[in-house]
Amino acid sequence: MAKIPHRLYLTEDQMPTQWYNLRADMPAQHDPLLNPGTLQPITEPELYPIFCKELTHQEIDSATRFVDIPEEVQEIYKMYRPSPLCRAYHLEKALGTPAKIYYKFEGNNTSGSHKLNSAVAQAYYAKEQGITKLTTETGAGQWGTALSEACAYFGIDLDVFMVKVSYEQKPFRKAVMQVFDANVTPSPSALTEIGKKILAENPGTGGSLGCAISEAVERAVTTENCRYVLGSVLNQVLLHQSIIGLESAIAMEQLGEYPDVVIGCAGGGSNLGGLIAPFMRDKLTGKANPRIVAVEPASCPSFTRGKYAYDFCDTGKVTPMARMYTLGSGFMPAPNHAGGLRYHGMSPILSKLYHDGYMEAVSVKQTDVFDAAVFFAKNETILPAPESAHAIRGAIDEALRCKETGEAKTILFGLTGTGYFDMTAYAAYHDGKMVDHVPSDEELQKGFDTLPHIPQNEGI
Ligand SMILES: *Cc1c(COP(=O)(O)O)cnc(C)c1O
Repeated sequence: MAKIPHRLYLTEDQMPTQWYNLRADMPAQHDPLLNPGTLQPITEPELYPIFCKELTHQEIDSATRFVDIPEEVQEIYKMYRPSPLCRAYHLEKALGTPAKIYYKFEGNNTSGSHKLNSAVAQAYYAKEQGITKLTTETGAGQWGTALSEACAYFGIDLDVFMVKVSYEQKPFRKAVMQVFDANVTPSPSALTEIGKKILAENPGTGGSLGCAISEAVERAVTTENCRYVLGSVLNQVLLHQSIIGLESAIAMEQLGEYPDVVIGCAGGGSNLGGLIAPFMRDKLTGKANPRIVAVEPASCPSFTRGKYAYDFCDTGKVTPMARMYTLGSGFMPAPNHAGGLRYHGMSPILSKLYHDGYMEAVSVKQTDVFDAAVFFAKNETILPAPESAHAIRGAIDEALRCKETGEAKTILFGLTGTGYFDMTAYAAYHDGKMVDHVPSDEELQKGFDTLPHIPQNEGI
């Protein structure tokens, strides 16, 4: 048999033309979003002031299995997709493992991550609806960058609320967003009522993703012809990100391969939900039984130590409530270098699948993640984003277990992006200044104390 290539790119005519909605094959759906005022399931029209119409529909629709990717979106995808499916021959050799390791690399675009896949779709639907302005939040900056690119392409004005610590630590992220004409404001800010309130209560705060979301939502609902968009967690985002998994599944089939284990890092769950989509489908429909593993930071352990409860998606408690694995909207993670994985909650879809036993989760410490990142960079030549390196850690650990048992498993993991804007983190690692923070039970309790006291949460 011919040797499997180091990198496999699909041709343009092999690329998926539809996204896949995993919910259509789930035996049980996640609990509905709740209107925080009435505690009743939220309806599509109630969400129209916040989200674009078509995206609202995608958020609620659990029945449509395949959704056509609009042609204009397909054309944009072709500027940076398909992304390659890579065989990590060099990593395998360096580990001395009998396992076969594959990774899907999403870092080949200016945003440096998979986030552009959903940004393009969301900006497209906004444009279709005649929306002229969008608002969003960004933590580490990848989502803000991706959305800036998409908005510049469609001629939509964009306000980005960037978590203040990242704004100060990553000036070049802001500079990239400015290339694409975005207005970038450090959050919390004095531009919104909620921002002013948070600043008054805690003047020195470096902000959080939860605060920035509150500001962006407030700005959207108080601005003419403006909507809010989010880069992870939501069902619509997982739908768009299914392109990652669909391409992977086609490529693996061409190679005559199928993963025994699929591994991804988990922040809000969008890349993981996208990567696993077709493989989880096989699992849910009994066609195959791959293991699915989420890897999260020990400093922000939503899956492994969180509660499966209704919670707000933001600190200011202005968003609908979602039932998900959460550390509480008031949880303030210790500063860690994987900024994109510092969200308090987790995708409701993945939360449900995890709760029902269809997937596993592990948490890993920051220094172990950077050991893996550097080892990977040296062997595979790609400098990974710290977020992505969580998945690398998971894949390496799996491959080392194979070395012990002699099993030649096929491992697939998601390499979500590159780490060129994270060199402060790499420098801290090399200077021996990186610390591992694992929150104590008491620290986590403080976050859990902020969970809403509603009947739905009784006994949790
Ligand atoms: C945002 C981000 C993540 C985490 O977000 P998910 O929604 O969990 O995928 C992972 N990797 C990179 C490079 C990111 O930018």
